[in-house]
Amino acid sequence: MKHALIIGSGISGMVCAVRCAQLGVHVTMVSPFPSERSQSVMAAGGINAVLSGEEAGDSVACHIEDTLKGGCELGGKNAVKGLCEHGGEILHWLESIGTVFSVDEKGRPLRRAFGGQSHKRTYYCGASTGKQIVSALVMEVRRFEAAGLIERRLWCCFHSALIRDGICYGAMLFDEAHGGLEAVCADALVIATGGQNALFGKTTGSTQCDGYAAGKLFMQGAELKNLEFIQYHPTTMETPQKRMLISEAVRGEGGRLFQRRDGQNVYFMEDKYGPGGNLMTRDIVSREIDALGGMVYLDISFLDRTVIDERLPEVRDICAKYGGIDVSREPIPVMPSVHFFMGGLAVGLKHETNIHNLFAVGECASMYHGANRIGGNSLLAAIYSGNVAADEIAGRSGCRFHPDFEGDLEREKKLLARNMDTQSQFPVMYIRDMLAETMQKRLGIVRSGENLEQGLADIDYYLSIAERIRYDSSVMPYFNYSLTAILTLARATITCALSRRESRGAHYRSDFPQTEEAYQSATIIAYDGGGYNVRFDREQSYES
Ligand SMILES: Cc1cc2nc3c(=O)[nH]c(=O)nc-3n(C[C@H](O)[C@H](O)[C@H](O)COP(=O)(O)OP(=O)(O)OC[C@H]3O[C@@H](n4cnc5c(N)ncnc54)[C@H](O)[C@@H]3O)c2cc1C
Repeated sequence: MKHALIIGSGISGMVCAVRCAQLGVHVTMVSPFPSERSQSVMAAGGINAVLSGEEAGDSVACHIEDTLKGGCELGGKNAVKGLCEHGGEILHWLESIGTVFSVDEKGRPLRRAFGGQSHKRTYYCGASTGKQIVSALVMEVRRFEAAGLIERRLWCCFHSALIRDGICYGAMLFDEAHGGLEAVCADALVIATGGQNALFGKTTGSTQCDGYAAGKLFMQGAELKNLEFIQYHPTTMETPQKRMLISEAVRGEGGRLFQRRDGQNVYFMEDKYGPGGNLMTRDIVSREIDALGGMVYLDISFLDRTVIDERLPEVRDICAKYGGIDVSREPIPVMPSVHFFMGGLAVGLKHETNIHNLFAVGECASMYHGANRIGGNSLLAAIYSGNVAADEIAGRSGCRFHPDFEGDLEREKKLLARNMDTQSQFPVMYIRDMLAETMQKRLGIVRSGENLEQGLADIDYYLSIAERIRYDSSVMPYFNYSLTAILTLARATITCALSRRESRGAHYRSDFPQTEEAYQSATIIAYDGGGYNVRFDREQSYES
């Protein structure tokens, strides 16, 4: 029986596991925490799809057009077509496995408007769509687990891929529970580790998503793509631990942004862009708020109380709990914050990387969203990409032989043990905090060459310290062995931002404010043991 090793158990990892199992591929699914704690559970606003018999005017073609336009023409055209064409089927499948969508009095699923969309096509479960989908998927995974087709491994982290001559044969895993490294061979390795939030410290997402797998694979030869396109969500609320997302659903239900100026409420988005101004794409809204000083208000106090209670209960509760705000009476203070990563591992249409049998799905893969993701498309992409990769894996013949990785394993074990013996006074988390400060400062909503150059210098300094740290016993081994790869990924991200000498979507350069035809290409970056090599892939060969 063929065997797939899946790293990550959020929505994309689970979907890939379930589909593999349905197609008779045995799966081992690995993550440090249960699926119920993955970032996917945070998804609030909804998932995009066009169902047949839709509201007059909407169509799959409109969904494709909105996605490509929202992504400033950098999303893979054929890939986006496949994504949007499967939206309806995916929605029906989610319902069939027990996802409870919000419905009207006749039992028809409800839709809401999301930014950058020409029609209402975001289906939702109140404001907890991610939770509902994760719950349904966990039940599916358990069904196949009971049948012996899926094995779930918790407290277990990715260490590195087993690669020989451009072919991937599985991965080394670090088991936190037993404190040991092991090599697990497989016919396919699927990376489903989400975005790179921890690089930026406080974001709307989970610190579990630290980009380590992408960084390590980059160091092992996998190419990365479009790293400079980092989505700032325009409406988040500051709390001591993180930036709480105030979902776009709020504006989808009619919420209005304003700034207080000379005692007046100035509805700056409506003034500049007309009645639909509040629902411009996220890159545009974030930039407008940033230009106004970075903090504005979002108002839904005029909405009917039942709309708030029935459609936005989580938002109401978050504001009350973290900000002491009663949204039915007062506006919410909001600011833009890092939210989503359009860039990641470069993959082809079947979600395979440039390394044979190494796949990437969900937010860690770069494919559909180009320079700016439109809301509601990420859940769809997580599910669609999981299915696409699984179909490809199931349709291939398995590996006939696996090279011997015993030597590699012993070497890595010795390295880890030797480092553990050598204590260091320098705390790993301190470097992570400094990195987050650098990333927030240098890769903000508005960037410049000078600022980015300084970011590179900062990261080179952190890399030089990281080389000297032997072992910090105050944190788990994972935080020790992951540090260099995370810093390398951060360096690659700034290198891409520096190379793109134009402004497009979420990448805005004050020194190059125009969108340039010459840059209508994906940014691909490769690593050769020290050099970071960027090329602009005009043909977008990874996407066509
Ligand atoms: C607050 C918030 C709200 C959102 N709302 C929406 C929405 O309404 N609609 C929408 O379309 N999108 C939304 N998104 C985006 C969407 O939720 C994510 O893009 C999507 O859920 C990502 O799923 P994933 O499976 O790729 O990754 P994740 O759900 O992040 O899962 C990653 C998995 O990888 C594991 N992992 C990480 N590192 C390692 C490692 N080194 N070794 C082993 N395992 C590892 C994690 O533990 C986890 O299990 C939202 C995002 C946030 C943060």
